[in-house]
Amino acid sequence: MKPHAVVVPYPAQGHINPLLKLAKILHFRGFFITFVNNEFNQNRMIRARGPESVKGLKDFQFKTIPDGLPPSHKDATQDTPQLCDSLTKNGLLPFLELIKNLNNSPDCPKVTCIVSDGHMSFTLDAAELLNIPEAYFFTTSACGFMAHTQCAEPVARGIFPLKDESQLTNGFLETKLDWVPGMKNMRLRDFPSWIRTTDPNDIMVNFNISQTKSASRAKVVILNTFDELEKEVLDAFREKFKHVCTIGPLHLLEHIVQDPDVKSIPSSLWIEVESCIPWLNEREPNSVLYVNFGSIAVLSTEQLLEFAWGLANSKKHFLWIIRPDLVCGELGLFPEEYFKEIEGRGLMIGWCSQEQVLGHPSVGGFLTHCGWNSTLESISEGVPMICLPCFSEQLTNCRYLCVEWDIGLEVEGEVRRDKVANVVNVLMDGEKGKEMRKKALEWKDKAQAAAKPGGSSHQNLEFLVNEILLKS
Ligand code: UDP
Repeated sequence: MKPHAVVVPYPAQGHINPLLKLAKILHFRGFFITFVNNEFNQNRMIRARGPESVKGLKDFQFKTIPDGLPPSHKDATQDTPQLCDSLTKNGLLPFLELIKNLNNSPDCPKVTCIVSDGHMSFTLDAAELLNIPEAYFFTTSACGFMAHTQCAEPVARGIFPLKDESQLTNGFLETKLDWVPGMKNMRLRDFPSWIRTTDPNDIMVNFNISQTKSASRAKVVILNTFDELEKEVLDAFREKFKHVCTIGPLHLLEHIVQDPDVKSIPSSLWIEVESCIPWLNEREPNSVLYVNFGSIAVLSTEQLLEFAWGLANSKKHFLWIIRPDLVCGELGLFPEEYFKEIEGRGLMIGWCSQEQVLGHPSVGGFLTHCGWNSTLESISEGVPMICLPCFSEQLTNCRYLCVEWDIGLEVEGEVRRDKVANVVNVLMDGEKGKEMRKKALEWKDKAQAAAKPGGSSHQNLEFLVNEILLKS
């Protein structure tokens, strides 16, 4: 009988992607896989790509659980606090029901382990009730995860909640934090954005405190990073948790999957526009700036226009992904003169295959919101970054990119077109940009070494499979 792993992502693109990659790897290693989407995202996938996309394959099936939000809640993936709260309160019963049905089904083996996203602590309750091992996967960087585990500390030290809104602008966020394990020179402003509130009952602060505390109940904590990149903070974690398995960059490890049908199971919630690849093919090596704010971040119309003119004024070639829901408020059309200005230089589309774009030789820089998947995908391809963190631990990733890894340039403060044009020119043409590109290529080599047989992430994957998930 095959081992059977139930894999549960938090319902958002940046979580589905790494969990699905791990699911494919486990399938390759002989597991029967049940991949559990929330109903909302499964329906989105079906709408975007048809029912085939979640049909599954031999020994790989998709199932759903409700997220507990009312059906009227159309923007479920966007409203992080409500979704987190609802899953925590409502997730356990439907999840137990699902496992009961799987265990009674003649179509699959009995469930032997759970691999769950670190935002879904109800899965830990289920694993304990069923007495099966659970691997708890935090899809953040190690530094971002550490900052999240420390969210209780500002409360204990009287820093959180903020006394009033003025603390956001009066220099208070520059306060140095010397108590974060394994992390040097942190400032309050590098902490996950959730603590920038005056509300003592803030859902996200309390959610992060409780979820990261739950991690010690799992058999193992998984992180999509590699040891060399975040050594000090990982050392600190390894004193705290029994097993910390770094298995990143997962999209490099994913290459071990052989079956082309499994490889091509899509994870994207939007349709990828393929025309950007022939467009990139026409461009010089390292000449294009790729701009993407991920799947959740939103810009105001003003910010959008400042970016647009900043990119245009930089005179560089750029590929800009503008998700249909990127802008909050009214998305006015760009003026006609704008399209004249960027003719032949700028391409704007709704969604792309980011891994493919970042791997393209024409791409020489990435303007990013510093989401962890985007950051790691860029590191793996040796592409230096312009950092515009929006929320959560993106702020921590930005700090590490700019100060620890030397491959990021931050756009600080309010977004203005002159600032954007200047930073784009520094990255794409300047001496600093050249140094960053060189450094980024060094990190790329290290990332690839970690994912190869014998590399740290590859070995950790073996440990995860053989010593944790198969020992039930
Ligand atoms: N992504 C993509 N195409 C796009 C934008 C994003 O394939 O046009 C993928 C990207 O490769 C990454 C994920 O979506 O794997 C976004 O995750 P990330 O952690 O970077 O940011 P989030 O969306 O969670 O803020």
